[in-house]
Amino acid sequence: MKLSIFNFSSKSDEVINGYINSFIKEIANSISEVKDIEWEINDIKLKGKITDLIEKYNDKGPLINNWDFNIELSNLNVYENDSGLILIGEKLNTSNDWGEESIKLVVIKKVEEKNVWHEISHLFGTKDHYDTTTHEKLDICESETCIMQFGLLKGTFCKEAINEMKRFFGLLNN
Ligand SMILES: [Zn+2]
Ligand SMILES: [Zn+2]
Repeated sequence: MKLSIFNFSSKSDEVINGYINSFIKEIANSISEVKDIEWEINDIKLKGKITDLIEKYNDKGPLINNWDFNIELSNLNVYENDSGLILIGEKLNTSNDWGEESIKLVVIKKVEEKNVWHEISHLFGTKDHYDTTTHEKLDICESETCIMQFGLLKGTFCKEAINEMKRFFGLLNN
């Protein structure tokens, strides 16, 4: 699995790289498979094309739901070889203030370490541990400081979130 990351945020590529690195380290204790995950930030072959697409579609509503944007992205073969695509930037068009995801695409607007962890973990099968209407913690969540809850910038993944990722990697059956 490979993560293709494009950084349009005010933070440097080095800072973003640090966030991804710390995320992988955090879950590698429980899920050693993640050590095989590769990632690349701002692939020079694609950065210009993706920048053009964002300029074309960013004022036309949330990118994640934009059919034409998604088709044009796919046509760049960004999802080849089991890749996940991560777009990071404070000005990207999203419907949630902090970011959102589909199966292979994550758009991150709140560029803070633990939110980057939260959003990227969705590519590895985590669910949100909050009620989408009330933003209250769900019963499945096993920690008050689990970052799969709403709006937390401190903390880490609860046991259930780790189990969700284990299921994704085929390490748990249910
Ligand atoms: Zn989420
Ligand atoms: Zn949780």
